[in-house]
Amino acid sequence: MRSQADLVELGKRYLYPNYKQPPLVMARGQGCELWDVEGKRYLDLYAGIAVHILGHVHPIVTAAIAEQAATLMQVSNYFYNAPNVELAARLCAVTHMDRVFFCNSGSETIEAMLKLARRHFFALGQVQRNQVIAFEGSFHGRTLGALAATGQPSYREGFGALPDVTHVPYGDIDAVTNAIDEHVCAILVEAVQGEGGVLPAPAGFLQSLRALADRHGILLLADEIQSGLGRTGRFLAFEHANVKPDAVALAKGLAGGIPVGAMLCGEHLAKALPPGSHGSTFGGNPLASRAALAVLEVIEQQNLLQEATRKGAVLGNALQALCDKHPKHLRSTRGVGLLRALVLASHVDARALQGKIRDLGVLVTVAGGSTLRFTPPLIITDDQIAQGLAVIDRALTALDSSN
Ligand SMILES: *Cc1c(COP(=O)(O)O)cnc(C)c1O
Repeated sequence: MRSQADLVELGKRYLYPNYKQPPLVMARGQGCELWDVEGKRYLDLYAGIAVHILGHVHPIVTAAIAEQAATLMQVSNYFYNAPNVELAARLCAVTHMDRVFFCNSGSETIEAMLKLARRHFFALGQVQRNQVIAFEGSFHGRTLGALAATGQPSYREGFGALPDVTHVPYGDIDAVTNAIDEHVCAILVEAVQGEGGVLPAPAGFLQSLRALADRHGILLLADEIQSGLGRTGRFLAFEHANVKPDAVALAKGLAGGIPVGAMLCGEHLAKALPPGSHGSTFGGNPLASRAALAVLEVIEQQNLLQEATRKGAVLGNALQALCDKHPKHLRSTRGVGLLRALVLASHVDARALQGKIRDLGVLVTVAGGSTLRFTPPLIITDDQIAQGLAVIDRALTALDSSN
């Protein structure tokens, strides 16, 4: 095989340069560990951005994928396929929703949800209800519709006119109330803003949104792409607030690394997108569906929701201890379950610190510009959490001498 340097050169020469990767080529993963092509080992505390709920190449998921790959991978939605209908039933049971539409990414799931909301009111004869309220700091994806909903101007800059979405401050119920008029069809919200820097919804906020949506006869749409699948200790982060949205977006962790998206909704929305109005060639394919079934099975068998709660507390306490030890560089820690962040002091360059931690063999992400985000596999051990944070402690201690 080519050397790491040669592979990096090839990537720099031929890949579209919309990312800025460090000069590392990952070769192999297992559980919470990754190895680059030179054999250097990393402790993975970001898990493909909240994708690898069960860690890398979980044997049960790998076996399910291998078997399905040798049986049937895709047939389009001209026909039903067994793994897909089993998965639909399973997902509805765990989320208490009634219907699932499958696609292949988070952004596509948001697109489906936005189309669902608009078309629902079209079917009711309220064509003017086609606008959405979303939140400042939110992230909903990169396709034009999902981008329009994303409440961070830097992602939208330069892409011209996008569908009209009203963005109001996250947690500000008065601002939402004031933004509702006869054109609004839905409120789109993350129970924990992930890319925005791991900001949990303030207490009572989701309940208030539910009440507001009910009062105005509009829809409450949940983006659980990052917070779902047990990451916060409940299957959906919305469950912490005891709130049932009208529709829910899942993706990232659902199929163990195979691309997938799932939009779930209540029966009252089952007629909003009639045959022909929406679809996907790959959506609901047996390969991704089978992988997702395996993921759900392992989450249940290994009690990973309870584990996420328990280990989330271990991680949260350890992050708080780091804050206490490094008050100069760290402001605070926040998050729920195994979706957590360290908020850095303003003088700390988040990317540089992330790079130092990576050089020491631990992988985390930067979110919201000034936080280090932790989205480890739910199967992480207490020992691995301690190892990871010991490395971050070293990187922070090294900062003491540099500034
Ligand atoms: C990652 C993410 C998306 C977009 O998902 P893609 O699969 O990258 O299109 C949307 N919403 C949230 C909350 C996300 O974390």
